[in-house]
Amino acid sequence: MAPIEPAVIKDIENPFESMLSRLSEAANLLNIDEDIYHLLISPAKEVKVNLPVTMDNGRVKVFEGWRVIHSTYLGPSKGGIRFSPYVHIEEIKALAAWMSLKCAVVSIPFGGAKGGIKCEPKNLSKGELERLTRAYTTALSEIFGPEKDIPAPDVGTDSQIMAWVMDAYSRQTGISTPAIVTGKPLVLGGSLGRVEATGRGVMVSALAAMEKLGMDPKSSTATIQGFGNVGSISAKLLAEKGVKILAISDVNSGYYNEKGIDIPKAIEYYLSHGYSLDDFKGGVAISNEEVLTVDADLLVPAAIEDQITRHNAYDIKARLIVEGANGPTSANADRILNEKGVMVVPDILANAGGVTVSYFEWVQNRMGYFWSEDDVNSKADEVIKTSFQKVYDISQKYKTTLRIAAYMTAIDKIAQTIRLRGIY
Ligand code: GLU
Repeated sequence: MAPIEPAVIKDIENPFESMLSRLSEAANLLNIDEDIYHLLISPAKEVKVNLPVTMDNGRVKVFEGWRVIHSTYLGPSKGGIRFSPYVHIEEIKALAAWMSLKCAVVSIPFGGAKGGIKCEPKNLSKGELERLTRAYTTALSEIFGPEKDIPAPDVGTDSQIMAWVMDAYSRQTGISTPAIVTGKPLVLGGSLGRVEATGRGVMVSALAAMEKLGMDPKSSTATIQGFGNVGSISAKLLAEKGVKILAISDVNSGYYNEKGIDIPKAIEYYLSHGYSLDDFKGGVAISNEEVLTVDADLLVPAAIEDQITRHNAYDIKARLIVEGANGPTSANADRILNEKGVMVVPDILANAGGVTVSYFEWVQNRMGYFWSEDDVNSKADEVIKTSFQKVYDISQKYKTTLRIAAYMTAIDKIAQTIRLRGIY
């Protein structure tokens, strides 16, 4: 079979192109059939909705929303809903494909999807957010379903928004359906451990990678970009393992402390200052970009896509990067980091703890029986550790990066499923 044409990497990359370039490289190494490759790069469904919402001032504003189902070969599609002014279809397509790959890497029986609404949630009142969420859920009620497509939180959304999704869907169908969405509040059938799950998976995969590199967490340092759910919890759990966190940042700025940032104090500050680290006194202020190039052993990018690019990859000092965010490293930067010998634990493995516990939440909802937090955590830790080892072994066997090895693991699984199910 002729090799699959490598995706062209342009100077300006978008997340979907970055995803394609890795997918083509992994598919070639696996000798994947070209027809199957074409299925993998084409999302199964892209839905656009325009959502009229009555604002608090009585005027009607129309918001754009999307849901992209990338694949349902391994099971119902799964993936978060993003509320952001920067959301666009190319981003959601990439994020949906990454969900398919992520679920396949950690062997959970889900396909991949992602949704988004173009809005600035910080500028909406609680009532406006609720009406917008209900409008989105109602518009997509034919797409969503506990056996079809199951949303979850992502950037700009939280458990309250998931509660409204659950309620709007349940009212629409007349059946109370907790398994329609994950990341719900505990009282509505959420799972213990879900809030911490993504950051916990980042910590577990960071420790697994450190072990391979012979790094002792207690004498290692880290720098963390992003202080939302993923960044702050990764920082907290890594600090609890003895890692000194030299720098943190939120959307506005970074903070550096050579003695180590007091993470519980930073979290308390962030929560009591309207989700902001502005004027935090636990370190000297540095720019958001400088946080990425701090001289630390470990870098955790836990904000958004395309933060490590060909423009700053040469300046990265860390020898280990563990991707808390989805797509923080561009494909061009991958090449530079690889040349520099930096180990990168890719997003689809490193941040898969979140969707793993989402899967546990869905299982518990369907059983109507709930597990203890210890049970959830130990099951999720095991999934991440086993998946890390599997990906690491493939990277050794094929002499490739952990990213390409993770893509290979995922593609191989999805391709096998497609072959067995058949295409007609
Ligand atoms: N938004 C999260 C992610 O990107 C969680 C998705 C889920 O739990 O379905 O992995």
